Amino acid sequence: MPKKVCSFCGRTETQVPLLVTGRSGCICSDCIDQAYEIVRRNITSQGGQEEPWGDLESVPKPQEIKAFLDDYVIGQDEAKKCLSVAVYNHYKRLSQRGAEDGVEIEKSNIILVGATGTGKTLLARTIAKLLKVPFTIVDATVFTEAGYVGEDVESILSRLLQVANYDLQAAQKGIVFIDEIDKIARKSDNPSITRDVSGEGVQQGLLKLLEGSLVNVPPKGGRKHPDQDYIHVDTRDILFICGGAFDGIEQKIAQRLNTHVVGYNSVQNTRGIDRGNMMRYILPQDLKSFGLIPEIIGRLPVLTYLEPLDRKALSRILTEPKNSLVRQQVKLFAMDGVELKFSASALDFIVDKAVEYKLGARGLRSIMEAVMTDLQFDAPSSDKKRITVTKDYISHQLEKSNRL
Ligand code: ADP
Repeated sequence: MPKKVCSFCGRTETQVPLLVTGRSGCICSDCIDQAYEIVRRNITSQGGQEEPWGDLESVPKPQEIKAFLDDYVIGQDEAKKCLSVAVYNHYKRLSQRGAEDGVEIEKSNIILVGATGTGKTLLARTIAKLLKVPFTIVDATVFTEAGYVGEDVESILSRLLQVANYDLQAAQKGIVFIDEIDKIARKSDNPSITRDVSGEGVQQGLLKLLEGSLVNVPPKGGRKHPDQDYIHVDTRDILFICGGAFDGIEQKIAQRLNTHVVGYNSVQNTRGIDRGNMMRYILPQDLKSFGLIPEIIGRLPVLTYLEPLDRKALSRILTEPKNSLVRQQVKLFAMDGVELKFSASALDFIVDKAVEYKLGARGLRSIMEAVMTDLQFDAPSSDKKRITVTKDYISHQLEKSNRL
């Protein structure tokens, strides 16, 4: 039998990582990679699907963006509106690059403030899904000032490159979600004299990414090394969305409004301040009192808040979104040919427990996991084709896992 060779590069089976055999020829995995790259570039240059940000026409309008978010995220209308407009403006900005009228639209990085488990990450993730751009989530707490133990802020860009498969052009138009931005607040409003390795220094490091500049990124992540070839990433068109719970910021807002979160009827109160949700009055100066430096705040011009999730919202989250927890469970069981149902009182009970846990929608997930494990273990080997989860069953399971 003749030796198999790649019809494109002529190398033999032993000289290539993998050889795929076709009807009248073969192709090696290296040539497949190259061919893929050629096809991809071609599609992109013809304005195909690969570059949805190419022209403004192809970018969904703010109302369409919000409608898409509505399918996945319950409530949070204010945040959804702000995000939709900010993202749309971001693409407007990209499309007018090079215009000669001298009006440059500034970048609209976003900061989302709201308690844990209210949907900050979900919003950012859903936006990225809609726009089909590389998206990465990073946790601000792992960063330290350059030169200290911990990760340099540049590693954010390494991760973005990684998810973009090292396609620099794609990465440079991606979205980065920086979670827990509140954890790098400096400890007091006054600039400190002593060095603050994990707080202000990191904020300074983030500045240059947020404002848009060329940043040297070590190719495969990790720490910088003098003889490494860097990838030069331009962050001008990367959209940064920051999120944080900013625990205790309500007090600062209240102070500013000269009222109290819980307290006497003050003058403002008669003006109708909603004291149960002080977050809605948040202003940039509150972030400053919390310990973000003014330069960072200035580079996160779109500030919006997420509402605390009440009982009704939690109940909707459990069943309504396209990939709600209930739908996910039903699908998991359907794959084993089992029809799964939850009784209404069972769902109510899960919501009650989640309210108790005070973890926002995260509580729902942890309850669901604890409750369903036994059923998921047994159902695939059982003949029972219909299962209804009742309140008593949930209560029993939670008791068993010491969660009641
Ligand atoms: P955060 O980033 O605010 O701490 P997440 O966005 O990570 O919270 O939310 C945790 C989980 O809770 C999500 O995966 C999602 O399933 C659910 N969730 C939170 N808020 C909402 C919401 N408003 N609508 C639908 N699901 C939500």
